[in-house]
Amino acid sequence: MNCKCGHKAVYFKRYSGQHLCERCFTRAVFKKFKDTIRVNGLIERGDAIVCGVSGGKDSLVLLHLLHQLQEKFNFNLIALAIDEGIKGYRDESIPFIRKACKDLDVDLYIDSFKEKYGYTLDEITSIKDRVGACSYCGVFRRNLLNQSSRELGATKLALGHNLDDESQVILMNLLRGDFSRFGRTGTYYKNLHPKFVPRIKPLREIPEKEIVLYAYLMNIDFDFEECPYAPEAFRGDVRNFLNEMEEKRPGTKYTLLKTYDKMFPTFNEMLTPEHISTCETCGEPSISTFCKKCEMLDHIKKNY
Ligand code: SF4
Ligand code: ZN
Repeated sequence: MNCKCGHKAVYFKRYSGQHLCERCFTRAVFKKFKDTIRVNGLIERGDAIVCGVSGGKDSLVLLHLLHQLQEKFNFNLIALAIDEGIKGYRDESIPFIRKACKDLDVDLYIDSFKEKYGYTLDEITSIKDRVGACSYCGVFRRNLLNQSSRELGATKLALGHNLDDESQVILMNLLRGDFSRFGRTGTYYKNLHPKFVPRIKPLREIPEKEIVLYAYLMNIDFDFEECPYAPEAFRGDVRNFLNEMEEKRPGTKYTLLKTYDKMFPTFNEMLTPEHISTCETCGEPSISTFCKKCEMLDHIKKNY
């Protein structure tokens, strides 16, 4: 089958019925990325963008796309990696990050849980009476990404969440009845505290398999490994369900995202607190006297 331009197709977009050749496919991905930024006003001239990189396909594709956009648009771009301290996983992915940044000539900063909080994630998971590894990891990483990008002078923090990730999170929050998180999966964030760096997700409308193909066609090397703590049964079930629905009804994930986006301004208005104060221990933004990260650190110190 050929692309509309006459070249041999490498991809069939089931949801739009288009066959695309390599050139038209990579252009379509860049266009989708650029349109998401333009329509939602995610980047302005003069912005300092910190791109969170993990060494996986999504963040390295995002770094490449931002780098391409930088040639047309004037903004600063820095890469930031967080080393959680997961032996056999994060140490393996860091060389992919270093290579991508070197190839693109983008400055890279690496921060670690060990340096910042005193423990690696592997050490944290050895304590008794603990919650799941991903709970510590999520809280500490969000905190460190925000703090480090602020210290790097970022005006925006770009993250590589794709359409699959976003649609899974929307459905998971709905199925869990996690109403408070329901107001936080949109395209923008109210600036609730001067210490929060606004997060942007320019890949949120691009399906995962298109990210994989884009990385392959653009020769972007990435780490295939999955985190050893990863298998989270609930997300796996939601992923399988959405993949089945997408197979039967192409466009399901996109429709879910767009329906959510229509409701997002109302949810965001209703569900975000009016005021966020600062944690009495670390001075980072917090809705209670002590932030979640300091509460967790306190528990770890007592049980380590
Ligand atoms: Fe962290 Fe869990 Fe992701 Fe592993 S799977 S990197 S532990 S959040
Ligand atoms: Zn704190």
